[in-house]
Amino acid sequence: LANRAFHPEDTIVDVSGVQVGGGNMAMIAGPCSVESEEQVIEVAEAVKAAGANLLRGGAFKPRTSPYSFQGLGLEGLEMLCKAKEVTGLPIVTELMSAEYLDIFDEKVDLIQIGARNMQNFDLLKQLGKTRRPILLKRGLNATYEEWIMSAEYIMASGNENVILCERGVRTFETYTRNTLDLQAIPVLKKMTHLPVVVDPSHAGGKWWLVDTMAKAAVAAGTDGLMIEVHNNPDCALCDGGQSLKPEKYAELLKQLRKIAPIV
Ligand code: PEP
Ligand code: MN
Repeated sequence: LANRAFHPEDTIVDVSGVQVGGGNMAMIAGPCSVESEEQVIEVAEAVKAAGANLLRGGAFKPRTSPYSFQGLGLEGLEMLCKAKEVTGLPIVTELMSAEYLDIFDEKVDLIQIGARNMQNFDLLKQLGKTRRPILLKRGLNATYEEWIMSAEYIMASGNENVILCERGVRTFETYTRNTLDLQAIPVLKKMTHLPVVVDPSHAGGKWWLVDTMAKAAVAAGTDGLMIEVHNNPDCALCDGGQSLKPEKYAELLKQLRKIAPIV
């Protein structure tokens, strides 16, 4: 179903009125995690003013350590909904368990499936119960074929609204968090008709790398960027070191407008 051979045109996914793919860019921005209503609203207003068209914020967080901040859960989701109400930006947040699918179906505009769950096949099959678009992140060490097969699971279950997200893969390098695979953009766009967006924040794991790699991703033909933005990165409960301050995000989008169709 994802194969370009049987569907030559680019698929355009409609995320609550925001078109993604076929020359339309998804500019997804916001904090790694929702920390408070004030925090998420402040960041949402700033990224909207900068030109973002979708708001991200984690409520359920897949943390490596069980002792790290696990996210505010449903309470965090409510805060994100409040930020949507205030700014009008559709929201993107990660679903980790099918237990919450009905609530996400009702409230979330773009349901994120994280790298760690890319091959949670049972969860993928359940996504056919919703028509909400799915943002499928690439697994930590997934091949293109494995990633496409995961998209195929979602599509075969009845939901063809899938957006792929390259977020870096694990290599032998330890200086950066992951290694951004820019080749994934042209390859996945050749193999599939689905939109491909890039998350340079989780790829490099360093805020100062985001700018350069975001530009590189745009040059390579990405259909969008997912970027972590925090109003106070030094005090962030998660991923502060890779988060841009709102001013830096605004500056990046200003520069990207010269090379990409960003509103
Ligand atoms: C995230 O986007 O907050 C996240 C946890 O990303 P990934 O699943 O790519 O690690
Ligand atoms: Mn994060």
